[in-house]
Amino acid sequence: MTVKLQSFHPPKRVLMGPGPSDVPPRVLAAMARPTVGHLDPAFVSLMDEVKLLLQKTFMTANELTLAVSGPGSAGMETCFVNLLEPGDTAIVAVNGVFGQRMKENVERCGAGCVTVEEEWGKPVDPAKVEAALKSHPEARLLAFVHAETSTGVLSDAQSLCALAQRYDALSVVDTVTSLGGVPVRVDGWGADAVYSGSQKCLSCTPGLSPVTFSPRAVERIRSRNRKVQSWFMDLSLVMGYWGSGAKRAYHHTAPVNAVYGLHEALLMLAEEGLEAAWARHRKMHLALKAGLEAMGLSFLADESCRLPQLNAVRVPAGVDEAQVRAYLLEKFGIEIGAGLGPLAGQVWRIGLMGASASVPNILLCLAALESALLRQQAPIRPGLAAQAALATVSER
Ligand SMILES: *Cc1c(COP(=O)(O)O)cnc(C)c1O
Repeated sequence: MTVKLQSFHPPKRVLMGPGPSDVPPRVLAAMARPTVGHLDPAFVSLMDEVKLLLQKTFMTANELTLAVSGPGSAGMETCFVNLLEPGDTAIVAVNGVFGQRMKENVERCGAGCVTVEEEWGKPVDPAKVEAALKSHPEARLLAFVHAETSTGVLSDAQSLCALAQRYDALSVVDTVTSLGGVPVRVDGWGADAVYSGSQKCLSCTPGLSPVTFSPRAVERIRSRNRKVQSWFMDLSLVMGYWGSGAKRAYHHTAPVNAVYGLHEALLMLAEEGLEAAWARHRKMHLALKAGLEAMGLSFLADESCRLPQLNAVRVPAGVDEAQVRAYLLEKFGIEIGAGLGPLAGQVWRIGLMGASASVPNILLCLAALESALLRQQAPIRPGLAAQAALATVSER
């Protein structure tokens, strides 16, 4: 077989899955600017600005705030390898895929993992977490996912971080899907190690992971008995590169153009305003919800803990959910996500993240979904969704 190798031109897509989200042309344009050296004074001042913008976005004054060179999973791993040593105990709340992944991280650090399990589709239960903290006073860490992308569920970060403080454990919080979409108040919560991702509600390209560490977490890192097992993620080394004031020492080559993109995306978020962005995600979620419910579809998660930016929608009985996703992609260029783990085949995951959270996207998605379901003779009510969605938008 001979393959003609040529430049890659991606198809036009509307990204309404669990991430990545649509990347605005302004961000892509920033990334196409000429590459400079990663120790160039101009790039160093850009890094300072990125840090400032990240502090604003995380709502923190934490000095140790930076973008890890790698996807959200790299930010997750950075938190665990720096804060845990072999023989430590960590409590991990698991209510979906990403909580399971945290547990994997803890075990690979050689630490003992106590899990607090919750049914998928439900938020982490602070009472169960408190019971675990009580019966494991040796636990040094409490880790949980703020916005579970596998189920569309928001957990109460404020209460969970307060519990960690009360029982003298550090909190590790996954805000990959929450940052920019719902309130993330790192200092307000008293959270200790928080990581996120560039490609969800920040609407940047994948590949960078914003992280922030409280003074308490930094103290823990400084008082380690052993070196961090990962040279690349060892924050005591990375700090020499991202650290403020300090002479920038070479650690690794930052993905220079990706940092341009993150800077632009964070700037756009700052221009919109964090609260306005949260309000937009909520408003767009209500429009999508009105449309889906008018059609006769329902949500996995209870309204009280439902994420606006990740909508886990139940697949009606008798519908081939994979065929629906394939039809949406082929006919309309729309990407939505499948269910994971025990929810495979049970739900679709419709993302309204960052720039993807827009009225035109919602109308397109509702029309396309309706068409896909009618093709399969699903028992839905056609012809109502678009008006129902629009009514919520014009009411205000
Ligand atoms: C997407 C996601 C991750 C992993 O991020 P990658 O960039 O895919 O490595 C971690 N946690 C949550 C909650 C996510 O949604």
